[in-house]
This record gives sequence, C-alpha cells and structure tokens, in this order.
Amino acid sequence: MLHFRDRLRDMPSYDLTERDWKIKVNANESPFNLPPLVEERVMARLSGVAFHRYPTEEGEALREAIGRNCGLNRENVWLGNGSSEIIEKLFYAFGGAGHTIVYPEPSFSMYKIYLRAAGAEGVSVELFEDYRLDVKSFIRKVNDSRAALAVLCNPNNPTGGYLSLSEVEEIAREVSCAFLIDEAYIEFAGPSASQLLSRYPHLMVARTFSKAYGLAACRVGYLLAAKEVVDMVQKAYMPYHLNVLSTVTADIVFQMRQEYEPRLHMVMAERQRMFDRLSEIEGLTVFPSATNFLLLRTEKAASLEAALAAAGIGVRSFGGAARLKNCLRVSLGTREENDTVWQAIQAFMTRGE
Ligand SMILES: *Cc1c(COP(=O)(O)O)cnc(C)c1O
Repeated sequence: MLHFRDRLRDMPSYDLTERDWKIKVNANESPFNLPPLVEERVMARLSGVAFHRYPTEEGEALREAIGRNCGLNRENVWLGNGSSEIIEKLFYAFGGAGHTIVYPEPSFSMYKIYLRAAGAEGVSVELFEDYRLDVKSFIRKVNDSRAALAVLCNPNNPTGGYLSLSEVEEIAREVSCAFLIDEAYIEFAGPSASQLLSRYPHLMVARTFSKAYGLAACRVGYLLAAKEVVDMVQKAYMPYHLNVLSTVTADIVFQMRQEYEPRLHMVMAERQRMFDRLSEIEGLTVFPSATNFLLLRTEKAASLEAALAAAGIGVRSFGGAARLKNCLRVSLGTREENDTVWQAIQAFMTRGE
C-alpha cells in the first residue's frame, strides 16, 4: 500500500496525449516556429553556453530587460517554467488551509487544479450568459469571502473575452487582497495591467513566452509584481529552477520581439476574418475574441469535433465542464490552415447531420 498525500488521489490528471494532427489548433500555440533571424541568434548564443555551470546571470539579464521594458526593476520580475509555474507558485504562496482563492468560471481549467494542490478553498464567480465578467459581483465575492487571492484571466481562456484596463483597475481599487491577472494572451488584446503596478502593489501580472512569442517548447513565463511579492514567491522555488537553454532563448526572443509584430498582426487579422466567416454559418455561435483562438458553440459540437478529427484537424473540447457544453475552441493557425478549418466546419454544418 502506497501512502500518497491526501489530496493527490482525487486530483484530476491533465490529459496530454496527442494525435499526429495535420492541423493542430487545439492548444493555442503559434503556428510558426522561430523567425529565421531569431533562430540564427539563438543558435549562435546556445553554442556559447557554459553547460558545466549552474545558470545564474542569464536569468538576471532577462529579468532586467523585461523590467526595463515596462518601467520596472529587475526586483519586480520573476521567471518561471512557463507562466503555469508562476501561477501554481502564487496559489501555493497565498493558499493553504482556510485561505480562499476567487476565480471566474468558466476560465482556465488549471486554476481549480492549482487551488486544490495549494490546499486552498475555491470560490468561483459565474460569467454572464455571454461570458462577460460581472465586475461588481467579482469584487463582492472577493471581499465577502475575505479571499487571500483573486485571479482573473485577461483575455480569458477559453472564452476569449477581454476586460478593459479601466475595469481591471476598478477591481484593483476595490479589493485589497492579492490580485493576479493571468495575461497569457495580452499581446493579442491591448495594454497590459503591468502599468497599474506602481499604484496597486497588491496587483500581480503573469505573462508568458508560450503564446504570442511561440516559445511553448521552452517553458518560460514571468511575473511582474511588487518587490515584496517577488521576494516571498521566490522562496517557493528551488535554486536554479530555470535551465539555461530556455533562458537564453527567451532572452533573445525578448530582445528581438519586434520581429514578432507582423505575426501578431496576422493573427489578429485572421481572427477577424475567421470570426466573420464562421459567424455566417447557421447553427454556429462564435464568441468575440481578443486572443489567438475562437470559441464556438453548436448543438452538433460532438459530431463536429469528430468530423474535424477525421479530417486530421485537432480542436479543443471541454468534456463536461460547466458552462462549456457544446463548445469547441479553435486556435488560429496560418491563413491556409484557417481556410481548411473553415471549409471543414462549413461543409459539416451545411450537410445537416
Ligand atoms: C497557455 C496559458 C498559460 C500558461 O502557459 P505557459 O506555457 O505555462 O506559460 C497560462 N494561462 C492561460 C490562461 C493559458 O492559456
């Protein structure tokens, strides 16, 4: 008999099995690998790495650069293995028995897993019917539950909705507990809440290189927060938690981030184009999105997903998740991929099965 810790047995597992999709639009990845100029610099830099040393300066240089870019200091930036690790550690840092974490529903499915792992109590705030956030109700729940941590995903995964900076600020003003904004998709949306940090020291912003910067394989994300928060969160990490290969790659990507501007614009243009075309299909609801994906809803979601899979197109469904019944999330790919996806959806929906 193996005696695992209490909460582990009934923890859900995150299913990562993948088919060899012809078109993979199920994980909000970038359809593009490194831009050629960036790849060249990355390869040159990797060949100069001191493989026999524990990594130290590389991460410090990246923290400095990220901080400088948003008017902050290195002490306000912390790097993690993807923003996933940052979020998990923040849940740990503010969680524990008797501590409440408030989050919107539906939102990023991992929040519920992190909060269980952190041994915290969860309180969810239902989004409106059209998936907009009820700002007043969010504020009320955070304050009424005396939450230790409030989490908001902006723009929201998987609904695509976006809260303006002034709405985020309204929440920051009205709650006094730790307030985390998960900005995994902010590059596709609008200004980052990081510019509010100087006024609201309880605000924390988690960002990632995985989505807009197409660096999902490297697992690099970062936290922007008050020095006090970074100092505490740091204690939850092992020394040398980031490997040098990912760190120097992210460093170059960050230095060369202007190379990604055309891609970001392409994704946003494709988002509008796909939104318009998919909206015309009868029996299909498309939700407005400020991200690199679109959420669709149709009575025929299960058979549509199967038809797309049969055509080699992988999209994301949500099993029995609350409020996401009959929904499919489709990431934006290249223009050609999007055309194929649209054709497949259109063909299926007009066949009337
Ligand atoms: C993808 C994603 C993340 C984290 O991605 P990492 O690869 O771990 O940086 C965090 N939050 C949301 C909502 C995401 O969709």
